[in-house]
Amino acid sequence: MEIRKNPLTGEYTLVSPHRLSRPWQPEGFCPFCPGAPETGHGWDVLLLPNRYPVVTPTPPKPYTEDFYVAQEAYGRAYVLVETSQHDVDDLSDLPIGQIVKALKLVVEAARESERDEKLAYFFYFRNKGREIGVSLTHPHSQIYVLPVVPPRVALELAHSKRWYKRRGECLHCAIVKREDKRVIYENRGWKSFTPYYARWPFEAHVYPKRHVSSIVELGEDELVDLADALKKTLCAFKNVLEKPMPYIMVMHQAPLRLRLPYYHLHFEIYGMYRPDGRLKYAAGAETGGGLFTLETTPEEAAQKLKETAARRC
Ligand code: UDP
Ligand code: ZN
Ligand code: ZN
Ligand code: FE
Repeated sequence: MEIRKNPLTGEYTLVSPHRLSRPWQPEGFCPFCPGAPETGHGWDVLLLPNRYPVVTPTPPKPYTEDFYVAQEAYGRAYVLVETSQHDVDDLSDLPIGQIVKALKLVVEAARESERDEKLAYFFYFRNKGREIGVSLTHPHSQIYVLPVVPPRVALELAHSKRWYKRRGECLHCAIVKREDKRVIYENRGWKSFTPYYARWPFEAHVYPKRHVSSIVELGEDELVDLADALKKTLCAFKNVLEKPMPYIMVMHQAPLRLRLPYYHLHFEIYGMYRPDGRLKYAAGAETGGGLFTLETTPEEAAQKLKETAARRC
């Protein structure tokens, strides 16, 4: 178990062969339901250590070969169980108050993670849908607290920093201000839109209107508005086609302990269906080249999501 680095691209591979033994869509038993060995009773949201973690506070010695670079898989992996109700389909089906409770556990975990100097990044994400390989359907999201910054975030950090140096403004703030053609939903504190540069057939980026670079900077009202914005946006993803859409949601924020004038907290949601309801695969162009291909325009997708968010949620 270790974190290996690709010297050609700077990307990492989290090697954790023990994860192969994690339960795969089991019938009749759910480790996240109330009364399971690790959950107990009397809770409505729960942050659990991941039983099959990619990073751990007590990592084994990395397998290394000279020439190549690897580091200990040090860190923390959590599962956030967002409701005790097994049969809720998605986060968007929960009341706003319940989503706020879940988000508060994320904030608390992020605060706690800032105290450990060996940790560099707090990565919060959510995989939804059996079609994209979710191993347990009980509503949950995940947190990896890592000793490295995820390369995609590092790329955004580099571009945002360069813009800030030249223009003296946050590039994300500039984008949020300009994105009025492809708005999906907007409330007091947050704006959800399909960006001009979307890569997936249905995609939403959810930004706080106020410039903050970490989730720990959000106040109570901002968390409530975030819960509302996520609920409405995910509702649109669920209802825009005939069947609930599998999706990936990730949070991008500044590395732990940094409050940056040039980087802006945001959530990115990638819908995995094409407009005809077939799964979109990241194939040759996408996986091999980083070249995403779209058969529709982000403008059309945003319009459909906007109509759904307004009508049916
Ligand atoms: N898991 C756990 N306790 C269990 C069973 C599973 O912590 O008793 C973890 C498992 O390691 C997995 C997560 O729950 O990481 C479920 O995550 P999901 O299916 O969303 O994605 P995966 O991580 O499997 O790709
Ligand atoms: Zn369950
Ligand atoms: Zn900003
Ligand atoms: Fe981003």
